[in-house]
Amino acid sequence: MPELYPWQRFHWNSLMASQARKRMPHALLLAGPVGMGKRDFAANLVQALSCEDPQEGGQGCGFCSGCRLQRAGSHPDNMNLFPQEGRQTISVDQIRQVQTHLALKARQSNVKTVTILPAEAMTLNAANSLLKVLEEPPGKTVLILVTAIVSRLPMTIRSRCQRLLFSPPHQEEAQLWLRQRLPSSRERELKILLTLVGGAPLRALQYAEQDFLSLRKHFIKNLFFLAQDKADPLEIAQNHLKNDLGEPLYWMSTLVGDILRLKSGTSGKFLVNHDIADSLQLLAERTDFKMLFALLEKIDRDLWLWKGQISVNPQLLLEGLLIQWFWCFSEVNHEYT
Ligand SMILES: [Zn+2]
Repeated sequence: MPELYPWQRFHWNSLMASQARKRMPHALLLAGPVGMGKRDFAANLVQALSCEDPQEGGQGCGFCSGCRLQRAGSHPDNMNLFPQEGRQTISVDQIRQVQTHLALKARQSNVKTVTILPAEAMTLNAANSLLKVLEEPPGKTVLILVTAIVSRLPMTIRSRCQRLLFSPPHQEEAQLWLRQRLPSSRERELKILLTLVGGAPLRALQYAEQDFLSLRKHFIKNLFFLAQDKADPLEIAQNHLKNDLGEPLYWMSTLVGDILRLKSGTSGKFLVNHDIADSLQLLAERTDFKMLFALLEKIDRDLWLWKGQISVNPQLLLEGLLIQWFWCFSEVNHEYT
């Protein structure tokens, strides 16, 4: 059974209280940053709704036929909707399958569920088609939409769902949870991990397990060399293309944000990248607000393109960013501005 995380207890208990009063909402929107365990929460909820003998806290028992079918991914009353293989979007045809699924009578449990993730992957036509379902939900159905980018969902969809916002827990709670999973890590390392990912515990765990800290160190080292004109942007781009670009772009965005904070007088200990505050201070002295804001704008736009449904050439995108990074910190450049 997927884990129900400590920071999800509040939402869980309030849903179970609704369930006990037979007032489970027809449509839920699980929103919040990546790494909060929203997908596991949805799976727990579906299992709880399918279970014939739920535990005291409402979670599925894990043994009944409903739980077993759900765990095997073959429960006839529960449907999961993802982008189809090789695609980034959820199509209108897939939403039509939802309509067919909901029109049939429940076969195993009392309620039919549909989980859509990520919900922002729905095309506009798909979202419009889903709207019809949300406007007149068939009896005893629960639709669960999961998203990390709620702003990409049409307002009409958002307004018809009960929203559960999954915010990062307090640092102590997150650190305690992370320490149990990474017993050999030092407290300082856990703190760096959590700060880097905005406090989302599962993302911090993924960072540790995939050794993202080493990748980040390597990438940032290259950025510092580049700022001093000691590295070739095209070569750096080539080296980092084998990994997903999302993380390097995110790292660049946090670095530029931190340099802006330093230029505004913020203390190094409050930075996202507080472990390299001294080196960032050196970069802050090599540039000005105008160049930094232009660079941040470009990174944010490229991140948006990269995460969105727009096809981009990763090599050109990263090269362009690295060249702008070079110009932002190149002392030569400032003679012309
Ligand atoms: Zn069960």
